[in-house]
Amino acid sequence: RRELENYTHKELGHNPSCGDEITLMLRIKDQTIEDASYIGQGCAISQASTSIMVDTIKGLEKEETIKLANDFIEMIKGKELTEDEKDELGDAIAFESIKNLPARVKCAVLPWYTIKNILEEGKSQGSFTVHQV
Ligand code: ZN
Repeated sequence: RRELENYTHKELGHNPSCGDEITLMLRIKDQTIEDASYIGQGCAISQASTSIMVDTIKGLEKEETIKLANDFIEMIKGKELTEDEKDELGDAIAFESIKNLPARVKCAVLPWYTIKNILEEGKSQGSFTVHQV
């Protein structure tokens, strides 16, 4: 939880249904996420999910990270992941039970949608708002 120096991408993720706001900062070089950090405010679920995501994606390639984000979002939607997919998600698997708490689902997926938005667009759009999961 800090500002990142020399970031290449910065994006504000917003979940209006709960008031969560996170700012993701990434330093991407040669398709790899060299470093990542965030600052933000909001409920404990959104902040914990962001913290774990940032730890998980450091050092990964962009494509791997997009895959993880898709797996996390599918998991929260209720899909059963394979053992390999669970291993890859690491500590983020702790959020699996959120699928039973519809009001908190957007809080948990906020950082993952935000990073998908950065990586799939290839450039930072500036901000992203979760309207539906
Ligand atoms: Zn929240």
